[in-house]
Amino acid sequence: MGELNEFVDGLLNIEDPWKVADVTRTVDRDGRGEVRIRVEVPFGHTVRCSGCGRECKVRDRPNERTWRELDMVGNKTLIHARIPRSDCPECGVKQIGIPWARENSRFTLQMESFIMAMVRQMPVATAADQTGEVPNRIWRIAERYASDLVRTLDLSSVRKVGADEKCFSGRDSFLTVFADLDTHRIIFVTEGKDSGTVGKFKRFPAKHGGNTGNISDFSCDFGSAFISGIRKHFRFSGITCDRFHLVKMANEALNDTKCGELKLSVNRMKAKYLLLRNDRNISDGDRETRDRICRDNEILGIAYRLKESLCSLYSMGDLYSAEQHLKGWIQWARFTGMYHFVKLADTAERHTACILQWFTSRLTNAVLEGTNSMISQIKNRARGFHKAGSLISMCYIVSAQEKTDMYGRVCECRR
Ligand SMILES: [Zn+2]
Repeated sequence: MGELNEFVDGLLNIEDPWKVADVTRTVDRDGRGEVRIRVEVPFGHTVRCSGCGRECKVRDRPNERTWRELDMVGNKTLIHARIPRSDCPECGVKQIGIPWARENSRFTLQMESFIMAMVRQMPVATAADQTGEVPNRIWRIAERYASDLVRTLDLSSVRKVGADEKCFSGRDSFLTVFADLDTHRIIFVTEGKDSGTVGKFKRFPAKHGGNTGNISDFSCDFGSAFISGIRKHFRFSGITCDRFHLVKMANEALNDTKCGELKLSVNRMKAKYLLLRNDRNISDGDRETRDRICRDNEILGIAYRLKESLCSLYSMGDLYSAEQHLKGWIQWARFTGMYHFVKLADTAERHTACILQWFTSRLTNAVLEGTNSMISQIKNRARGFHKAGSLISMCYIVSAQEKTDMYGRVCECRR
């Protein structure tokens, strides 16, 4: 038996003075095996006081506890131990720390890391199913892990921040996500999508070594709530309205414009595809077809040129020409009287400064679009989150994914 204990001791790699005392395996009626490993501090050994670190005598071992360890070859594995209390001349009687598990956890560190690796890839319910644990226990690990991530966030180098909203369940439940545009990491997630979320964000960096005065730039969409929030709470920061949102709005305006009976040489789907597609990405033949569609349908042709002209804003060489181009475009859109483009012209006029800020900052919300698709994935995996807190935890966990491996070891960021 001694050799087996030594072998398992080697597997577990438990720190001194802990030793494996006993290993047993039982099989239940369904043929499922369970391995129980008893570990102990052998009699006569000293233990380290959890208060001052001094080596002390063992006073007693009142508490028996059990932890779930990684399965051994398909056998559920449990570690049992009686935890000694040290008799310290300085601190008195204290329970010693456990090297293989966090305080109050029912799982070993290895098992927790394994569960976290699962949680990043699959719904919590599936992870619970796979490990034979109840989902609540898995959630507790995830939430603790997320709160550790938030606690250890270092925001001292945050200069450029992107903000975006995300609907998470039903029509009225929104999260606002703030990301560091340099490191691409989510740094703050909160419920709601009004200007108050910016106020909440303002208080956050100070708790994590950051300074709101260092944040020089924001990037966000055209939602006026963000912009008014940023103007109010970060008076000296530049605001860039995301160029991809502007292009999207131009495409929507084209799509929504009613052009009456259309004369088309191709089917509607193909025509739509040709009109919305970026000019650079289509073949010469398709380009000819598209130009013919625009010639044959006057209103559609104008709408198409309005859209293209607005999108070409970003190819302007300098701020001055961009400003002239945008002003000209707003006048032209209003002159056509096309409802959706007139509305877009109003939006563009209201946000002219923030649109043109791009020519100075070159910031976009592309990072957050990636985050959005990540959140959608998490949401779909769980078939909708009803508790915002759970989704917020998952956002932090998945965003930090690249920083640790499945054993919780910090590795080089792949980016
Ligand atoms: Zn002590």
